[in-house]
Amino acid sequence: QHELINTCSIGIAVYPDDGSNAEVLIKNADIAMYRAKEVGRNNYQFFTQTLNEKAAKRMQVISQLRTAIEQEQFHLVYQPKIEVSTGKIVGLETLIRWRLPEGGFIPPAEFIPIAEESGLINAIDEWVLKKACLQTAIWFKYGFKSLLVSINLSAKQFEQPNLIANLQSTLIETGTKASSIELELTETALMDISDKTIKLLHDIKSLGVALSIDDFGTGYSNLSYLHNLPMQTLKIDKAFIDTITLKTDKSPIVDTIISLSKNMGLKVIAEGVETAEQLAYLKARGCDEIQGYYFSKPVSADEITAMLQSGKPLPAAKN
Ligand code: C2E
Ligand code: CA
Ligand code: CA
Repeated sequence: QHELINTCSIGIAVYPDDGSNAEVLIKNADIAMYRAKEVGRNNYQFFTQTLNEKAAKRMQVISQLRTAIEQEQFHLVYQPKIEVSTGKIVGLETLIRWRLPEGGFIPPAEFIPIAEESGLINAIDEWVLKKACLQTAIWFKYGFKSLLVSINLSAKQFEQPNLIANLQSTLIETGTKASSIELELTETALMDISDKTIKLLHDIKSLGVALSIDDFGTGYSNLSYLHNLPMQTLKIDKAFIDTITLKTDKSPIVDTIISLSKNMGLKVIAEGVETAEQLAYLKARGCDEIQGYYFSKPVSADEITAMLQSGKPLPAAKN
């Protein structure tokens, strides 16, 4: 009863340059096939030496990641979210950092995709959830009771059968109120969402945990199903905020996402806000919250505590 459309991704390795025996040729064709999938599937790619180096680097990161999980080489930083109308910190986004024992950092944009592909992401996301909840409970005890702490959830976590149970037990174990936590899911992760996942999102909402769509505007959301998702927040992707360079600039996509949010009764937040002009633009259009280097880079929990206690002000928007 269903129409099936097949496409194929082809990797090509050529004898003798790409390998002198079948085993090496097949391995290299496989690497080239992964490249074909990476660049959007339904195409072919020839094996190259650069691909080989990338594959080797990937294998190295996977093995380093395993050690990193065992040895807890990760730590968390937090970036404030500011309510535009009051200039107050109302939320924080949790961001992971990986410091190598030999020195230096590997940025999340580099290791998260590898962790997702290799299945290591589940252990990482669970660790992040637990640490972030423990810290949230501490801030709650300090009296910052309305602070909403966001945690990034990888699309892969949706496939975890015990996601809800784990979320629930982590909240209880760490003494964290569900209403203090928000999960950020990227729009792309939500694109080909199944009925099962929609139910999962509703279950998360029933726990009292808020849900936000990250990087909004970068995927191709079907607006009619957006309507059925139990989301509280839309987060406008930094790429669109970047297009505002002058207060007088027009950014129709930003304007549209803000009015879409308002019409759907969702909170809207702009990420990657770096200038007073961007703030002024967003303020004029009624964007609820902003996050970005303009107010603060992601910093340690102690630095956040100091900011919360001192009531660090939001520098004025340029009018
Ligand atoms: P994201 O969720 O879109 O996070 C926002 C990224 O923008 C962060 O990069 C943040 O440091 C950066 N950023 C914030 N404000 C500004 C600004 O004003 N200017 C510029 N240029 N950048 C800004 P980061 O920390 O490197 O994280 C990159 C991505 O890695 C995140 O994108 C998220 O997708 C992923 N990620 C980070 N932490 C976690 C985590 O704990 N779990 C999972 N699953 N993914 C994570
Ligand atoms: Ca995010
Ligand atoms: Ca984002």
